[in-house]
Amino acid sequence: MTVDKHFKRLVRARAARTGESYTAARWRLRRAAANPSKATTKRAKLADLGLSVAIPETWHRVTHSMWGQSYPALHYEVTKNGSRLADLELNSHRLGSVRDPARAAAEAVERARSDPSARFEYTDTMLGGTPAIRLDPANNRQPQASERHYCLAHNDHLFILRFTTTDRRACDPVFDQMAASIELGDASDECLLGELSMTDYAPASIECVLIGALMAAQKGEDFSGRHLLAALVLGDSGIAASVLRTLDVTPERLGRQARVDDSGIAFLEIPVPAATFELLTQLMPGYALETVRTHHALLGILSPRNPAGGLELVEGLGVDAIQMRTALADRIAYENDASCVFCSFCRKPALDVAQMTPNRFSQICNECTAACAAMIHGRRPLPDNPMDRYTGGKRAGLFTACGYCGADEDLYTAPPQTRFICGVCAVRIDETTTRADGQ
Ligand SMILES: [Zn+2]
Ligand SMILES: [Zn+2]
Repeated sequence: MTVDKHFKRLVRARAARTGESYTAARWRLRRAAANPSKATTKRAKLADLGLSVAIPETWHRVTHSMWGQSYPALHYEVTKNGSRLADLELNSHRLGSVRDPARAAAEAVERARSDPSARFEYTDTMLGGTPAIRLDPANNRQPQASERHYCLAHNDHLFILRFTTTDRRACDPVFDQMAASIELGDASDECLLGELSMTDYAPASIECVLIGALMAAQKGEDFSGRHLLAALVLGDSGIAASVLRTLDVTPERLGRQARVDDSGIAFLEIPVPAATFELLTQLMPGYALETVRTHHALLGILSPRNPAGGLELVEGLGVDAIQMRTALADRIAYENDASCVFCSFCRKPALDVAQMTPNRFSQICNECTAACAAMIHGRRPLPDNPMDRYTGGKRAGLFTACGYCGADEDLYTAPPQTRFICGVCAVRIDETTTRADGQ
């Protein structure tokens, strides 16, 4: 058997085993032959990016970039001790990576290539068995410093990798090796805190996540929504903390110290269970248009879709979910956060209900109209819904009439009784909602 035939057989075997294309399997095997694994590298896994890369033993995950600074992603960076790289006091070598699911990935790669400003030179290459383009600055005026970007589309996600250094000669071979070692996969649903990319989190929200994780680690517990909520209570900035304080949910009442001692805990290594991971990466960002602020985090914890729990912590203090949602909705309306639309009656955010029916000044969700319809038809009341028949009569200074038709009889409302809907409108809206559900 010739070497070539043997190699082809290996490629086919790998392709069959991994489900990769023949080309991708061949590329991986060639790469493995060219770069035998070295003891001086370790594999860094960025679980929520679905990316892993072999980094020199001396590189470590760093945290400062998580605080919304220069490049909004998780960085790995060389540290001082025992590095093979020279002039560590002066040099900085970094890899930043971003995965962007929101943009049409292939299109973005093409757009980068046809950038008319000609700031970069483009080279076609392969990264993680996937066609990629490498971008190098076209007019590099600093011969020592170097910067290179890779841009590729994988599973409909755009990946951008940015390598920077102030010592080109020492670093270019290292960067070549790192680029060759990159593997792309699906994003995982479980990771370490340090593997979580919180690019869209505001500093106050990141602080809460870190404090929550620390509290869990100190107590030897699984990091859950409970710790996140406690951290939101402890936070001294952010809308969530101030709303919680108006409800008298304070660190003292929770029996927590306002200061958290982080001595001796490598908090980036704290495991994030799948449920908390979902809360942090799916639910909480879902409430925000751009930046996840502390009130979006609190909405995530309050959501019926929250798999990680936490609400029982304040319910133990006698504060219920409706009370909390009302306080939060009022405060968010005051902040003019356009990303959050709440049902004017039960105060659930639009994201947590199936349908929202607006009138000129307010909106009602399908759960509230269903609650009215249930009362009208003599069925049992729905659990956790604040709608009730309005028996207060006309009140001075208050427009006690249906917000949908103006009728002032047979009204339904919820605390604090500033919005009303009549039985006829509630049943009509409920029927259209039910029909839409049934289709
Ligand atoms: Zn509602
Ligand atoms: Zn009406």
